[in-house]
This record gives sequence, structure tokens and C-alpha cells, in this order.
Amino acid sequence: MSSVNLGMPGTRVAYGSGNLYEETPFPEHARSELENKQMRANIGHATHTIRTKRGRVVGELPDWQDLRDAGSAIKKEVGARLPELLEQFEANVTARGGVVHWARDAAEANGIITDLVRAKGVDEVIKVKSMATQEIGMNEHLEAQGITAHETDLAELIVQLAEDKPSHILVPAIHKNRDEIREIFSRRMPGAGAELTNEPAVLAEAARSYLREKFLDTTVAISGANFGIAETGTLTVVESEGNGRMCLTLPKTLITVMGIEKLLPRFADLEVFTQLLPRSSTGERMNPYTSMWTGVTEDDGPEEFHVILLDNGRSAVLGDPDGRSALHCIRCSACLNVCPVYEHAGGHAYGSTYPGPIGAILSPQLTGVAAEQNNSLPYASSLCGRCYEVCPVKIDIPSILVHLRDEDIRTKHGQRDDQASAQRATVLEARAAEAEASGAPVEPAEHPADFKKKRVPSEMDLLMKAAGTVMSSGTRMGLAERALPVGRGALKPFGGLKWLPGMVGGWTQERDIPVPPSQSFRNWWQKNGANAEQRVERDLGQTHLPQADGAPGPTPSLAAGIEEHAAWGAEAQAVYHLRAQRPDPEGQDTKSSEVNSTGEEPA
Ligand code: SF4
Repeated sequence: MSSVNLGMPGTRVAYGSGNLYEETPFPEHARSELENKQMRANIGHATHTIRTKRGRVVGELPDWQDLRDAGSAIKKEVGARLPELLEQFEANVTARGGVVHWARDAAEANGIITDLVRAKGVDEVIKVKSMATQEIGMNEHLEAQGITAHETDLAELIVQLAEDKPSHILVPAIHKNRDEIREIFSRRMPGAGAELTNEPAVLAEAARSYLREKFLDTTVAISGANFGIAETGTLTVVESEGNGRMCLTLPKTLITVMGIEKLLPRFADLEVFTQLLPRSSTGERMNPYTSMWTGVTEDDGPEEFHVILLDNGRSAVLGDPDGRSALHCIRCSACLNVCPVYEHAGGHAYGSTYPGPIGAILSPQLTGVAAEQNNSLPYASSLCGRCYEVCPVKIDIPSILVHLRDEDIRTKHGQRDDQASAQRATVLEARAAEAEASGAPVEPAEHPADFKKKRVPSEMDLLMKAAGTVMSSGTRMGLAERALPVGRGALKPFGGLKWLPGMVGGWTQERDIPVPPSQSFRNWWQKNGANAEQRVERDLGQTHLPQADGAPGPTPSLAAGIEEHAAWGAEAQAVYHLRAQRPDPEGQDTKSSEVNSTGEEPA
């Protein structure tokens, strides 16, 4: 057993390892994936279908926004009380006959699983689809130890037989069409003949027959968990095919790997998430198979139950107030299905178990932004905000992306501080430990001490520093703008500048430098500022709210106008919530729009 850092400030954090990055960073990977027309067509079709279904079932619920608020509030509570809830969960699992293990990182979790499987004297296990086991690279680790883990979820089975990688959280084989699946089954699935057709029912039946043998013959199963209830020690798995139910009930030994953030405080909290999750993920009103178990029960289900509580960088995420809400994710994949970047680049481009918008904020935080393979992920977004609008637990993904971009810039450009150095050193140490545990040779890497040296500023750092010095002072900016007429005279005959040399050449690869305008904004404001201010005063006078007696009040100042409108917004929110809670006496439809009209969290 090892200790788990629970995000306490000032404690050195342990970053995650395992399948959280690939050597090829996102920009390069995305470029090659864009060439794959078949993959893009499959993903475009599938995401369009799922998001249409989601929109329909979400629109049916008049209290959808309240459910989102409730989900977000419960997840915030979990983050704030995590140490206490974990101990409560451990006590309740243990009291019901289960065994709790704590794993700081992927290597520790894999080591615990291997020991448990070996203790049973078997070399095969069956698996329920689980992001946590993918994250720690469990299948690969077990294979290296001579143990085969059979995937039982249909899509995961397709990916496993194809020796491929999942590309979507919910639909791992979203990049394969049925012709490709038929070919994979014919070639790799024992018992599936060459006469297999590409009919979905035929393919499903072939997988069913193959898996049925595995369910009946295998005595150890491994699962993840969607939720763990601290109050009772109950684990929950939601799935659509019934394979999970088989894995969780038939084998003699069950091992569950669960990220520490998956806890819920109370059993009653499940009510919120069993409504949010199926509507957001598969676009269904209710999940087809929801399995729950608490410890072990004599003559019913597994005789032995182990749960591994996995940190693998989560404490580090929890320690960042601006990024920690990424841990609220319930892996519904709604953000993937609306993301224009994901739709074109596909899941493999992200290089991590977690693709799409959630991957772009979670993976770099789990590994530390200083892990160079993941530091391009926060830029894999147009910041359009659709991911936030659909997220059932209201994770503000765009704001976290901006926060991580800021961290990346600070880490890269000659401003390395102690925190960034510690991050990088921890990443290197985690990789070395992982390589050692798996028996792979340890790559010669930067020595952590070298990393801590202050970097010599690059040309870009110096250029940015100079730009910052000029732009942070009105006087200096005014002086610099005096050179505009010279630039205008030089560039006007050419219609702008299409090429710049050297380091600044990157700018003109994507855009031209336009001819400077005849006057700067500063000059324009000096001449016209008084008129503009008068217009603002006049407009505020026309639009500000009337007094209680209906008479228009005095023309407010700009600040007073903003305050007044903010107060009105809060009042509208309160009315909205009251209306949502009250039964409609007329029996009329009181459906709310899907997106909160103010886009704000209620007070
Ligand atoms: S971030 Fe939100 S929308 Fe995306 S997978 Fe997680 S819960 Fe779903």
C-alpha cells in the first residue's frame, strides 16, 4: 500500500504515467489523420447521429439545466471532501468483505493487478470496457507478464482484434465501418468463418458466440467503475450490451480499477447522474444495463472482490484551482461529438486514452503541462464553447484550455519557475519508474537537475519581452505608433507584406501584414473620443431599467448601468429556478432552452 497525495498545496505532486501520451505530438498526428478520408467519414456520420439523438432526449427534460447544476455541485463537493470520502469508501468496502488497494500511478496499479491475477493461478482474464485500465496500459502490461486480457465490449473487442487503439470514449471503434469489422472478425476471431457478412446482426452474433465461451470459462474479471458511493461502498458500472453484467457476476474473482475522482458522497446522488449520463452519452433516456455491487455476497456473484483506487496524476489536477474541474468528467463523450477539431482529426491524433476536448484538458494536467508530448493539446481547440454547452456537469473546458495555454507559455519561454521545474522532474521520474517496472530499458533522458537550470532566453523570448515593454506603456506605444506613416508609405505600393525573414517568418506563413491604416486608434480617439462618450451616455439613458413607479430614472454612469443589469440577471436566474421547481397548474409545457440564457453558474 502506498500513500496518495490528495491535492494538498505545497506537497510535491505525482504525475500520471501509462497511455496518457504518445511520442508524436498532436499537430503532426492530426496532419496524418486528416489524410484518412474513411476515418473522417465514419466519425462525421457517427458523431452527427449521436448528437442528434442527444439533442432530442435532452430537450424533453424541463429541468435539464437544474440537473446540470446539481451534477456540477455534487462533483465540486467530491473535490472538496475527497480525503474524507475516500476513507469512508474504503471503510464501507472493507466492512462488506471487499479489499481496497491504493495505487499512486500506472506502474503501481499494474503491479497490484498482476499479483492478484497470478495469485489465482490463471493466465486469462475477461474485461469490462474501462477508461482507467486503458489509461494505465493494463492489457499491454499483462501481456508482457504472459496474461491475456479479453475485451468483452463489442467495440473494444473489434479494436483489440485489429491490434488498433480506441478513438472515442464511448464508441472506441467509431473509426471502423462494418466492412472493415467483417474483415477483422474473419481474420482474427476464432470460429468466425470467411462466410461472415457485413450485416450488423451477423457480426454481433459472431461476437456473442465467441464471448459466451470466455464468460463461462474465465474465473477472473477486471472492470472499471463509473461511480463509487462513499456512503455505502457500492460500485456502479453502466453499459449497453450486458457483457458488463456477465463479467461482474460470473467469475469467482472481480478486480475493479477506479480513479479516485469517481466517488459520489451519497447513494441518492446516483439519481442525478443516471439521468445525466445516458442522455449525454448514447442519447438514451435510460441506461440499458446498470450494475451495482457492494463487497461480496455469499452464493451470489464473485467470492472475492478487490478495488484499486488510482491516483495517476489526479492529485496534481486537484491541486490546481483553475484546472481541477476536469476531474468532474463522467466520460459521457458529449464534448467529443460536438467538437469540430475532434470531428476532423479523430481520436488517435490526441495520443492519449482521453481524446477530444476533455482529453485536451485532462491529459496535459495528468502528465503535467511540462510533458512535451501533451503541451500542444490545449491548442487543439477553436474555443467555440460548444463543449461547455453540452457538458452535463458544466465543465468550463474553454477556460481551462486558456489557462493551460498560459501555463505552457510560462513553462517554455525562459520563465521556468520552481513549479515548472518540479513538474518536469516528476514527469521524468515517473517515466523512468514505469520503464523499470515493465522491464523496458530506461531511456537516457534530461537529468532533472539540468532542467532546473534557468534557460537562456531564446530570440522569441527576447522579441516578446520587447513587445511587452512597448505595449504595457501608453507613452511608449504612442511613440511607436509615430512610425506608422513610414510603414504605410513603404508597404502601400505592395498592398502589404507577404513574407518576413528568419524567426518572424512563421507569422507570414499563415497571413499577410496589412498596410497600416492612415491613423491609429489612439489618434482617432483623441479627435472623436468626446463624441463617443456622449453616445454611450445617451444609449444607457435610453435602455436602463425604469424606476418602481414607471418613471425613467436619471442617466446612470457606465458602472452603475452594468451593476443594474447584473442585478437584473441574478433576479432572472432566481425566477427561472423557482419556475422550474413549481408544477405548472395549466399542465402546459414549460421546457427550458438547452443552454442557460446567461451561460452563468447560478449564485
Ligand atoms: S467533459 Fe463533460 S461532456 Fe466531455 S466527456 Fe466529460 S462529462 Fe462528458
